[in-house]
Amino acid sequence: MFSSVLGASLLGKASERGLVSYGLTQIRDFSTDKHRKVDDTPYGGGEGMLLKADVLHKAWKSVIPRKSRTTRTVLLSPQGELFDQQSAKRLLKYRKIVFVCGHYEGVDERFIGLCVDEELSIGDYILTGGEIPAMVVADAVARLVPGVVGNKRSLAHESLENGLLKYPQYTRPREFMGLGVPEVLLGGDHRAIECWRRNQSIERTRVKRPGLYKAFLEDKQGK
Ligand code: SAM
Repeated sequence: MFSSVLGASLLGKASERGLVSYGLTQIRDFSTDKHRKVDDTPYGGGEGMLLKADVLHKAWKSVIPRKSRTTRTVLLSPQGELFDQQSAKRLLKYRKIVFVCGHYEGVDERFIGLCVDEELSIGDYILTGGEIPAMVVADAVARLVPGVVGNKRSLAHESLENGLLKYPQYTRPREFMGLGVPEVLLGGDHRAIECWRRNQSIERTRVKRPGLYKAFLEDKQGK
């Protein structure tokens, strides 16, 4: 599941070039049970199975022998803070991030208390496991590592980078199914293009993401 995502496209190239490295830990390898069991029923009853604290702890210790300011253990959880671009930027400062992927009903609370630095959610819905959320977060953070995305400007001009969505974009052909390209983009007047793009960014943020737009206005008024 992970290797097909982390080994492909920009993320794959980034690891080939040594800009980032990914490691996978199979928690089953840390089970002492003869069936390599990693889960058990919850105390007090209730549905489903929980990942065991002792197994998770051993697996975690194998990748984080000692906690430090440069490492971060993130549990993917629907109970966590909502992950966004700001969180991605914040995580960039760690040399090593360990993503703990829950499964079944989740994980024993004692493991969270002992080892987890923060919980992150990728949205208010429930998935079957933390693997996809871990890849979402890893992708968003890895592409901020200098050199992963070729052109620095493409990061700086991206949606959400300045609290706004990106302006509409067009490429060849110049006319498609009777639809043209805004004249201003064809004229070569860079100041006019910049001004048009800024206005479009503001307008589409207002229409598509009113919450974001409100925050943008408040931020502007505060400055
Ligand atoms: N019983 C848990 C609860 O009510 O909070 C939900 C468990 S969920 C079925 C299984 C695992 O999927 C979680 O432990 C977590 O790792 C992952 N997961 C599910 N939804 C997620 C989300 N929106 N964001 C991040 N991780 C999620």
